[in-house]
Amino acid sequence: MCKGMNRTLWHVMTSGLKVQEAMQMKLEGEVKAINPDDAYYLLEAARSVVVVPGYGLAVAQAQHALKELQELLEANDTLVSYAIHPVAGRMPGHMNVLLAEADVSYEQLFEMDDINPRMASFDVAVIIGANDVVNPAAREMAGSPIYGMPVIHADEARNVLVLKRSMATGFAGVENPLFLKPNCSMIFGDAKETLGAIIRQFSD
Ligand code: NDP
Repeated sequence: MCKGMNRTLWHVMTSGLKVQEAMQMKLEGEVKAINPDDAYYLLEAARSVVVVPGYGLAVAQAQHALKELQELLEANDTLVSYAIHPVAGRMPGHMNVLLAEADVSYEQLFEMDDINPRMASFDVAVIIGANDVVNPAAREMAGSPIYGMPVIHADEARNVLVLKRSMATGFAGVENPLFLKPNCSMIFGDAKETLGAIIRQFSD
């Protein structure tokens, strides 16, 4: 975990002390909330999609719905890749286990360092229950407790869709400026229900 976060054990154990300070940092931009129908139109037009899973995928148990959406996208000639952060979830390899359970091909999974240089080439990044591992504050906000932690550069994709229930923070307790960026749209709700609603649009 320390390696994945680019941190010493001491830093990991004391970083919570700085959380309060970071939460007081002012974030700029507006939250744009869309519904699953809008997300469908964006995904239907996309030629390349990168999925970034996180802890919320496990909470929602949405891995099978995700695989179903992957298949619908591929049937629509969209290339689907998965970006896997080494500490996404709550245990090492958590995302790999979940996606293997849903029979997602190993060849479609890319480690963070391999996929980050290509993030800008994707039409849509779909973030499913991930938060800290896509937080650009790690690159942009020098005072943030997660500053310097390697993250997936999901914000560099042309469009970003975030599936989560609320504006709540993730494990690190740090606000995420990604959610306020102009290319980012939030779809609030349980990830499995949201994916189900998008799948229904594809099937109709
Ligand atoms: P985070 O904990 O940062 O974020 C998970 C997000 O999932 C939350 O913000 C939550 O938002 C959302 N969520 C929860 N339930 C649902 C649901 N039913 N549907 C949709 N969204 C949901 O997870 P990440 O994977 O991004 O990052 C992992 C974090 O855990 C890192 O900080 C890492 O250091 C830490 N960690 C990792 C370990 C490992 O070995 N992998 C071990 C210990 C800690 P909302 O409530 O709004 O829905």
